[in-house]
Amino acid sequence: MPTDASNRAGRGAITVLGAGIVGTCCALALQREGFSVTLIDRDTPGAGTSSGNAGLIQTGTPMPMATPGMLRKVPAMLLDPKGSLVIRWRYLPRLLPWLWRFLRQSSARRTEANARAQMRLLDHVGDAYRELVRAAGAEDMLRHKGLLFVYRGAADARDAEWEMDMFRRHGVRVDAVGADELRQMEPALNRDYTHGFHLPDCFYTVDPKHLAERLAEAFEKMGGVFRKAEATGIEMGEAGPRALRTTSGTVPVERLVLAAGVFSKKFAQELGVSVPLESARGYHLMLLDETVRINGPVLDGKRHFAVTPMSGGLRLAGMVELASLDAAPNYERAEMMLPLAQDMLPALKGAKTRPWMGHRPMIPDSLPVIERSRRHANTYFAFGHGQLGLTLGAITGLLIADLACGREPRVDLTPYRSDRF
Ligand SMILES: Cc1cc2nc3c(=O)[nH]c(=O)nc-3n(C[C@H](O)[C@H](O)[C@H](O)COP(=O)(O)OP(=O)(O)OC[C@H]3O[C@@H](n4cnc5c(N)ncnc54)[C@H](O)[C@@H]3O)c2cc1C
Repeated sequence: MPTDASNRAGRGAITVLGAGIVGTCCALALQREGFSVTLIDRDTPGAGTSSGNAGLIQTGTPMPMATPGMLRKVPAMLLDPKGSLVIRWRYLPRLLPWLWRFLRQSSARRTEANARAQMRLLDHVGDAYRELVRAAGAEDMLRHKGLLFVYRGAADARDAEWEMDMFRRHGVRVDAVGADELRQMEPALNRDYTHGFHLPDCFYTVDPKHLAERLAEAFEKMGGVFRKAEATGIEMGEAGPRALRTTSGTVPVERLVLAAGVFSKKFAQELGVSVPLESARGYHLMLLDETVRINGPVLDGKRHFAVTPMSGGLRLAGMVELASLDAAPNYERAEMMLPLAQDMLPALKGAKTRPWMGHRPMIPDSLPVIERSRRHANTYFAFGHGQLGLTLGAITGLLIADLACGREPRVDLTPYRSDRF
């Protein structure tokens, strides 16, 4: 909870670079603590990767991207351009150091440790969102419908058991769902789906971009300042960053929060911190005029894509593509999800679609960096949230506020240090 008003005076100024869901939550949490916050982005709040995700706030899915058996999957990742996880050949040499680290995280021991570290944050996600969303009066952006994983046949469901066991081991509620119950929950689902798992504590947003916009509006109403500018570098003083160079002039900085998603890497480097951060690109396809309705998000656990009922239509989201930040999007990867979804929901027309690509800011162990810099006491890091950035936005904001206020953070931040590599 924010400190009461009488204690807030003199908190000082703080600048947050990046107004994705993570930076926006940081800005709102800090503003509520009585800091004078400036939020800087080259675009409008939530317009980057945070606009296009599947909208799932996955309180109960501790699952790193690197899991046992990953090494065996590498040839298929390189050779099957239609797979759910692909590496684009020409970028392979540049990606090798990151991939090597990623594969090293796929042992059973590392997978379990990384899942445990994710779960420490996930345990706080529900409360954190409740706090920030209530402060912004944006409760209408969230739906509490759980998350439904679906499978065709017992064999596919059995393959998923180890993942569900992992969730259960970490205290997550997972309900097995039979064919009849699936029909009742989602009448539009193809009858070939016979098995499912429902995670009742997960929730989702009907519009991730608008959620960030609403949080940013609340931040501005509380006195926060949003500045649209592209940061090009950091000016260093004796005690750390003293200004951001931007395309519209120099912005003096008292304290700095680096929350620029995958683009944080180069700024972290300027601050003397080298983090293996790469883009794990993902795609969505919006189905804009669908009459088919689903009651909550449905995830095909075998084909690795999610269908989420959003305010602007049905969103099909998934695919992991390792390439580079500046490689052109391959929107065929978004289109590929349409036949899969038509197979899942046979009445889907898919007549009017809009594809999108974004960058999951991915660190090999699937954990973010959340800390106060060890080199510069006026600098905080909040980036690298990978496939869980929407989920972890609010708790990251509250943790950065804990650090900036000099309080013991509500979660032990050791697993998220930037020097863990
Ligand atoms: C297809 C797909 C599906 C996903 N589904 C989910 C999901 O269901 N649930 C979930 O939890 N996560 C999901 N994710 C992941 C999630 O979207 C990301 O982890 C999250 O959006 C990252 O947020 P961020 O604020 O760190 O980064 P971003 O949203 O990328 O924000 C960074 C901001 O920094 C700004 N910026 C960068 N450089 C500069 C600069 N030089 N100057 C000024 N501004 C700058 C950018 O404009 C941007 O607004 C998904 C991702 C993808 C791609």
